[in-house]
Amino acid sequence: MKIDILTLFPEMFDGPFSESMIKRAQEDGLVEIKVHNIRNWATDKHNTVDDKPYSGGAGMVLMVEPIFNAINDLKNKNSKVFLMSPQGKTYTQKTAYSLAKEKHIILIAGHYEGFDERIRENLIDGEISIGEYVLTGGELPAMIVTDTIVRLIPGVLGDQNSLKGETHSRKGLTKHPVYTRPEDFKGWKVPEVLLSGNHAEIEKWKKDNNR
Ligand code: SAH
Repeated sequence: MKIDILTLFPEMFDGPFSESMIKRAQEDGLVEIKVHNIRNWATDKHNTVDDKPYSGGAGMVLMVEPIFNAINDLKNKNSKVFLMSPQGKTYTQKTAYSLAKEKHIILIAGHYEGFDERIRENLIDGEISIGEYVLTGGELPAMIVTDTIVRLIPGVLGDQNSLKGETHSRKGLTKHPVYTRPEDFKGWKVPEVLLSGNHAEIEKWKKDNNR
């Protein structure tokens, strides 16, 4: 699995992608993540990638040409290209499962501005919104989408079973509460049954306490 991200602020990705599971998944060769500056594909000497909208209006618009050139360079026949956009389809765990099956994903993050509509019309396979609110940029959404996909790649989570009983998992199973030491904290006790060692009772309790 390969994920390419196009952004105007590549450094924003440094922290989240160099820690914990995403870091390990890359080191283990389970996923290759590359973050690219859209300016690398600018066509003038000022590295311009956005401009004022025709006919006026507020804000700047991400130009079609640098995005076209970037996708042209990065894309192969297995690639799926997605725009991070508040107008997109709201992202869910179901979408994460279907994206995790892809070989190559390209995510485009906007910043402040809109996208030239020709990007939408000609260059992408879909638009992804991470929720019904507006962020300053598509960087956090691209990180969220990447994170949800990477943890579904076989071998990324130490224990694949942890995907099974998980909230929002494929079967729609929801999760039971969990506890760890100590058994009694200031009178807040761990349910007796979990300490009983009685597997049938424990399974029943987990089922009864799904939320
Ligand atoms: N004026 C723009 C909004 C810009 S928001 C408009 O009307 O469409 C700036 C960028 O942040 C967007 O280009 C998009 O890439 C990203 N973004 C903002 N909110 C988002 C959300 N909920 N989901 C995904 N991307 C989002």
